[in-house]
Amino acid sequence: MEFKIDLKTPEAQFALELIQFAAELSCRIRNETSVKSIIKPDHSPVTLADMGIQAIAGALMEQYLPEAVLVAEEDADYLQTPEGADDLEKVTGYVHSFLPHARPGRVAQWINLGRGKPCGSFWTLDPIDGTKGFLRGGQYVTALALIRDGQVVMAALGCPELEFQAHKALGKGVGTFAVRGRGCWGFSLDDIEDPKRWVRLEVSKCSMMNEARVLDSFETGHRVDGKTQRVREILGIQQSPIMMDSLAKQVVLASGGAEIFFRALSAKNPGRREKIWDVAAGALAVEEAGGRVTDLEGRELDFGAGITLARNPGLVATNGFLHESVLHALREAGKS
Ligand code: AMP
Ligand code: MG
Repeated sequence: MEFKIDLKTPEAQFALELIQFAAELSCRIRNETSVKSIIKPDHSPVTLADMGIQAIAGALMEQYLPEAVLVAEEDADYLQTPEGADDLEKVTGYVHSFLPHARPGRVAQWINLGRGKPCGSFWTLDPIDGTKGFLRGGQYVTALALIRDGQVVMAALGCPELEFQAHKALGKGVGTFAVRGRGCWGFSLDDIEDPKRWVRLEVSKCSMMNEARVLDSFETGHRVDGKTQRVREILGIQQSPIMMDSLAKQVVLASGGAEIFFRALSAKNPGRREKIWDVAAGALAVEEAGGRVTDLEGRELDFGAGITLARNPGLVATNGFLHESVLHALREAGKS
């Protein structure tokens, strides 16, 4: 496929500049001696890197796309409390090195630009997906997607700790950029400007289930082990799953490094639905690389149902060739 993406549009500039800044900031914070994490009301952790990246996203959006709507994972509530004041100063310090006009009040406003409501056309951002991976030295990504009429139309993922197995020359620290109908492309986060050095990403052509590589969450709390094991048995998959945090799993799938990822529903929480920022960018990357992404029932994902995929239970992403078999195995496992 020929490269037919205009990188001069404000949308592309916003997305690519953001994932570069995000990678630089997150790597800098991770190299510090200790990374502070704050526990959110839903018991998940957030770091100053998440806040800093979301602030940069708000500022760049103001610059490139002042009319746009952003629906992002974090908010500035904690930073605006008296206990959060020192941390707001710290986040401002980080953001300042990218945006010299950063001041604490502006930084809080930029973060809160992410409080937009899903509408006909909007962006969704997870500043750091896989925060637990980020804290542990594992994989994490910055994930940004543009949604129009319930469909993802553009997606950028920055993966500072990931390498493409099929494109090792790009080194560690890669990104992907996908535009609906125009392919999914990969690049080094250190060398993003010239698309001549980008590579077209393609899913694996593996159609033999016994050779398939399955991805799963590193975090035990995010896995549904019993059902996953049962699905692997039904499919006759021998190899143990590749455990990895974040949407890096979808990037591995899009670049041909594995064939299957699914998130089943646990018996304890069958009503759980994915947040749009945890899925959107990875879904377009996989589809534009030639793969398939659906819910557990084989239905297309509908990103027009609010901040969760309310109409789509679970998630199945594959290289396409193996998709129907995985759906069938999930149905069978559901009966047992
Ligand atoms: P993972 O694939 O484990 O890196 O998870 C990706 C994202 O999904 C993270 O943002 C998690 O917060 C979220 N997530 C996945 N599974 C669960 C779960 N069972 N409960 C809560 N959050 C989850
Ligand atoms: Mg997330």
